[in-house]
Amino acid sequence: MIQLYIPLNFLGVLYREIKQSLTDLDRMFHLLETHREVADAPAAQALRVSEGCVRFEDVSFAYEAARPILKGLSFEIPAGKTVAVVGPSGAGKSTLARLLYRFYDVSGGRIAIDGQDIREVTQASLRQSIGIVPQDTVLFNDTVEYNIAYGRPGASRQEVEAAARAARIHDFIASTPKGYDTMVGERGLKLSGGEKQRVAIARTLLKNPPILIFDEATSALDSANERAIQAELKSAAQGKTALVIAHRLSTVVDAHRILVMEQGRIVEQGTHAELLALQGRYARMWLLQQSGGEAAIDAPAGRVA
Ligand code: ATP
Repeated sequence: MIQLYIPLNFLGVLYREIKQSLTDLDRMFHLLETHREVADAPAAQALRVSEGCVRFEDVSFAYEAARPILKGLSFEIPAGKTVAVVGPSGAGKSTLARLLYRFYDVSGGRIAIDGQDIREVTQASLRQSIGIVPQDTVLFNDTVEYNIAYGRPGASRQEVEAAARAARIHDFIASTPKGYDTMVGERGLKLSGGEKQRVAIARTLLKNPPILIFDEATSALDSANERAIQAELKSAAQGKTALVIAHRLSTVVDAHRILVMEQGRIVEQGTHAELLALQGRYARMWLLQQSGGEAAIDAPAGRVA
């Protein structure tokens, strides 16, 4: 029996290894594919962020030619201000974040940072200037420390820890036997959605870039952690240019400007008070959420209005 057990056990291990490698390969190809979408222009210069003013100028975009997603969108995030985007699921909110980080190029119009078209600067310099906390954080198969310090290679352990504390993930890391040397990702410790998001927040806080994108940054967190991190993100965004894509209206109340998106267009915009006074879509979403319908904002287009 033992003669059979060893080879079978070995085959089992081999099977898991191959399966794991395929998953990793799958991710790698996905990442490569994302990168293939954009390329540096031959004469691309490094982005120079002086003020940090972001402008979307008549931007249109389609993932597939036959299905336009953004339809001529224009707005500005003045230097050092926060613009929040709300609207039903599928409206195109995350697409704005992906375009600003240049995962894809716009199909029409342009996105400019301090007057420079982001297609004309190097991707490396663009991404150096932007910190993004995406909806789904993919971690590297490496240590927690590596994953956080990736925000600023060469950061000291103390700096990594300070960022982790601010992102409310330090205590969790410290409770694992290997602490910051714990391997995470596909081959290591599996983290929950909220924990991964906190690692991404720590990474971004450490990177400390002039422009921030929070894409539903606290959607995978429980409410106690959410409130604490909201406060942390708010102080991190102080004086920086921030694009916040939100699910909960309560998180955008203080934004300098709120854009309400529907089916790839901005249908309302203003401050929280202005939008309430307008008594339109935003005001209706606000009322729905106040009466406990937290999910209302995520309802597909048409159901909210
Ligand atoms: P949610 O609030 O649910 O995150 P959203 O407003 O952020 O929604 P987007 O993620 O920007 O919406 O998606 C807008 C539309 O683009 C959706 O209809 C979605 O199905 C489509 N879409 C998103 N990513 C892709 C992709 N990679 N390929 C094709 N279509 C896509």
